[in-house]
Amino acid sequence: MKFYDVEKLRRDFPILSREVNGKPLIYLDNAASTQTPRAVVEDIEHIYYTTKANVHRGVHCLSQEATAAMEASRERVRAFLGADSIDEIIFTRGTTEGINLVASSYGELLSEGDEIILTVMEHHSNIVPWQLLQKRKGIVIKVVPINQLGELDLEVYESLFTDRTRLVSVTQVSNVLGTVNPVKEMADIAHKHGAVICVDGAQGVAHMKVDVKAIGADFYAFSSHKMYGPTGVGVLYGRRELLNAMPPYQGGGEMIGHVSFQGTTWAELPFKFEAGTPDYVGAATLAKAIDYMESVGIENIAAHEHELLEYATSQMASIPGLRIFGTAPGKAAVISFLIGDAHHYDTGILLDQLGIAVRTGHHCAQPLMEFLGIEGTVRAAFAMYNTTEEIDKFVAALKRVAAMLT
Ligand SMILES: *Cc1c(COP(=O)(O)O)cnc(C)c1O
Repeated sequence: MKFYDVEKLRRDFPILSREVNGKPLIYLDNAASTQTPRAVVEDIEHIYYTTKANVHRGVHCLSQEATAAMEASRERVRAFLGADSIDEIIFTRGTTEGINLVASSYGELLSEGDEIILTVMEHHSNIVPWQLLQKRKGIVIKVVPINQLGELDLEVYESLFTDRTRLVSVTQVSNVLGTVNPVKEMADIAHKHGAVICVDGAQGVAHMKVDVKAIGADFYAFSSHKMYGPTGVGVLYGRRELLNAMPPYQGGGEMIGHVSFQGTTWAELPFKFEAGTPDYVGAATLAKAIDYMESVGIENIAAHEHELLEYATSQMASIPGLRIFGTAPGKAAVISFLIGDAHHYDTGILLDQLGIAVRTGHHCAQPLMEFLGIEGTVRAAFAMYNTTEEIDKFVAALKRVAAMLT
């Protein structure tokens, strides 16, 4: 036991003891979605069995208890992110919705010819919402390239700013390359030029301690399902002044002050951005996922994953023809690779037959694939519950695949 007792921790995740194709499951698709510990699932069950009622509207006991659970979770998220106020914590469906909210509502404040900066390593959910805005408003999108290691070129980044630059949107950690971007430095540069920065935290929260104020994020979006929490819910953090200046994202119940056909006023933050009945069970139980991660220790998780990453990288080096995409120092525990000319899909299918779950394809990052001159990769991403024995089996399986496909 180095950082914590992994075998003991694995018992909190019942799914890890199932078999796939007659083999013990080895789950390495954690950058797509993580597994959920019993404490969170039990909390979901508890709410369904004892407290399920629509939030914020009822005078009756169940509604008030459900509201209290959701609002307690909002406070938990606020503390987790180091935000100043619960007014700055908006529950969403996930990272995608968070970024769409910013592109749509903050985007409403931009004018034709205003410029935004993205990077070539962005996930489609941090590209397409901005392209929709481009169509709607005639904004200009500029793109930061990467170097051989998979790091952003900060000199080019700074050179892209003009007096029309209004916003930067960048991923904290690449879901393909594992690169951890220097978000703080990028935020400082953006602020120096009078622009705001939106951070895609989908791959950040599970792997590192996040403090939105320390990194200078004006907006920060993440998904619960990638940090051991329930599916269907996520969070957008936004600085209060910005959120106050932005028009609502969607209209409906919950987000109004007063509605009449002469005109409608908006609710206060954060409800202005939470139209309709939220996933209140998901929102309430996200707090349990945060509790779980913090009980293990986010630094411990990071150290454990880093050890797995180093071990897997060194073991994979012995496989002839294996290429790894993304070798930035300090990268997160994500390994994208190809073996010789073998198609990523064939590799994924063979690994699945051996009980090993990896992701194959473009990973919702087609511009990055184009930049790298490939169509897709195989991706193994490690989480707090993976073990060195699993890596040994994974590498042995890769050797068999390499022998079959190359
Ligand atoms: C998964 C992911 C997203 C999208 O998250 P959803 O939960 O699908 O909304 C966005 N950005 C990155 C970097 C991701 O890994």
